[in-house]
Amino acid sequence: MAERPRIYLSPPHLTGSEAQYVQEAFATNWVAPLGPHVEAFEREFASTVGSPYALAVSSGTAGLHLALIEAGVGPGDEVLVSTLTFAASVNPICYLGARPVFIDSERTSWNMDPALLEEELERRARVGRLPKAVVLVHLYGQSADIDPIAAACARYEVPLIEDAAEALGATYKGRAPGTFGLAGVYSFNGNKIITTSGGGMLVSADEALVQHARKLATQARDPAPHYEHSEIGYNYRMSNVLAGIGRAQLQVLNDRVSARRRNFDLYRRALGDLAGLSFQEEAPWGLHTRWLTCVLIDPEEFGADREALRLALQAENIESRPVWKPMHLQPVFRDYPCVGGQVAEDLFRRGLCLPSGSSLTEADLDRVVDVVRRCAGR
Ligand SMILES: *Cc1c(COP(=O)(O)O)cnc(C)c1O
Repeated sequence: MAERPRIYLSPPHLTGSEAQYVQEAFATNWVAPLGPHVEAFEREFASTVGSPYALAVSSGTAGLHLALIEAGVGPGDEVLVSTLTFAASVNPICYLGARPVFIDSERTSWNMDPALLEEELERRARVGRLPKAVVLVHLYGQSADIDPIAAACARYEVPLIEDAAEALGATYKGRAPGTFGLAGVYSFNGNKIITTSGGGMLVSADEALVQHARKLATQARDPAPHYEHSEIGYNYRMSNVLAGIGRAQLQVLNDRVSARRRNFDLYRRALGDLAGLSFQEEAPWGLHTRWLTCVLIDPEEFGADREALRLALQAENIESRPVWKPMHLQPVFRDYPCVGGQVAEDLFRRGLCLPSGSSLTEADLDRVVDVVRRCAGR
């Protein structure tokens, strides 16, 4: 029997109008970093998320690196960061010679537990060891509970950096996650809700911060007719060609959110009756884009564990992926402490991300549903 076409976890979804923007870049010979698309993309993005300033960069990781530099993070500093996340939330902390300290998740949104963060900041304030920054991650299209986290950071004057790479299109009390802290970072990697094939955006309400990050991202050139440098720079700007793709993608962001939420609704209708299978909740504080639909499997009740389900899907040429393996369990970060950790460990052990692309058809979703029901014996 011929293998059925592969269903991917979260493939890129083009609109058709990207080529026009790219063509424009070619026609005007702006095939370079910077250029009119970059400036327009920054402006349009800033207005979409409601932030005064935005800087288009070569990746979300680069944006986080710049944000940490702007927060003053350097060698020997400590940075508190969500443990349940992708390694790119943590790597830039290490690029700077600083040390991550991981914080566990809460069970509603799966993001950083505000109570644990507050306790840890209070404890550290008492012993005079406050961290240099907090990196708050908004996972899978859903905002963390930002208010108590931002309040705790403000109380101890610790800068808050938001990793909103997965949360473009989400809301927290009506506003975009990523716009609450000192700086926020988004990603346009190929698997994200919109893509430039690779790229990112740093936003901030602090004009001087964005200006300086822009300078660092452009090889730290001082204003002079020749090349003059008084600090170490990076080559982190986005190319004008890719910014053209981003402009086309940004126009359909709302459609992409609707399509991914429709995937979730369909999964819930088709699988909601299965014992031992539960869906990641939508927290009461905002809109979950359902960038990825995530489920938790209780093996006793479901009749199979998360890994058996993943393999059953794999056997049908369907890609799924375990929830992030917490950073405190990663060999590379073994030596760094974690405050709590049991919630993230449980979400990793039982959690699976189902195919969630905005271009999935109902027939694709039916294929996934069939495998899940068969795996549960129902
Ligand atoms: C994708 C992602 C990043 C990194 O973004 P890139 O653009 O791929 O560098 C950072 N953090 C999280 C949580 C992500 O999912």
